[in-house]
Amino acid sequence: MDVNHLIADIHAKLPSLNTGKVADYIPELGKVSPDKFGVHAMTIDGRAFSFGDAQEGFSIQSIAKVLTLTMAYQRLGHDLWKRVDVEPSGTPFNSLIQLESDRGIPRNPMMNAGALVVCDVLLDYLANPKADLLEFVQSLSCDVTIGYNETVAASERAHSDRNRALVEFMRSFGNIKNGTDSILDFYCSLCALEMNCAQLSNTFLFLANKGFSPICRKQIITGNMTKRINAIMQLCGLYDEAGEFAFRVGLPGKSGVGGGIVAVLPGDYAIAVWSPPLNRKGNSHFGMAFLEQFTTRVGGSIF
Ligand code: GLU
Repeated sequence: MDVNHLIADIHAKLPSLNTGKVADYIPELGKVSPDKFGVHAMTIDGRAFSFGDAQEGFSIQSIAKVLTLTMAYQRLGHDLWKRVDVEPSGTPFNSLIQLESDRGIPRNPMMNAGALVVCDVLLDYLANPKADLLEFVQSLSCDVTIGYNETVAASERAHSDRNRALVEFMRSFGNIKNGTDSILDFYCSLCALEMNCAQLSNTFLFLANKGFSPICRKQIITGNMTKRINAIMQLCGLYDEAGEFAFRVGLPGKSGVGGGIVAVLPGDYAIAVWSPPLNRKGNSHFGMAFLEQFTTRVGGSIF
């Protein structure tokens, strides 16, 4: 199958690109052109397929939560699940509602509350959290050009009242140990990691390969841990649209409000797609549509 041709054909048949809305609650994100569209797929045996703006960096936002989760899981092992649960939430990414009845334990590490707890855990283990995270990502992708977009990070820090509220609320239940400002500072930086589709698919390839990265040739986590992270992505990676993503695309995946989505087919490939306009649930409208067509026409999904 000519996958490059297939990707171009799916793109050509997507309905017009003026559906959805670019996120602007973090003002800096609102400046991105809605017309951007990039795709990059990388297989575990080294074949790459690319289309459109696949080499242009964008703000990966919540996609980074999978990477910090991996780092925290490497360090804390199974004890991590005492601090954050693994259940889908069915609520928006920044919701506070369930934290009250769940007594400060976030439903999963993919929603903001859970990712903030993961940041709190990492602050206990990492000497230089931002530098250590960057080094981890650069090594996974074998690319030292990856960095933080400081303008986006500053924009999010200046609009983080809701995330601050999440941290303080969880602290009231004893599930936060470090200072709120250090947690938010780290969190806003990880969301502001800037990567392109090629770098993203390379970075996530270890999740398609039982925890071994064919890019940096290292075992990042065990096969069992990989299974669990993929399960969390499948159930919780697309906010309260995870069911729809499983139904239409059928792969473990993670989206971000910057318009990126990464998905993996275990044993085969990682794919990243970027299109900034978001649907009502905060996921890339055309990213979802593209991936649905891709897995349908290639005939590969985990189901
Ligand atoms: N930095 C974003 C926030 O906390 C992440 C949102 C996302 O991509 O889901 O609002």
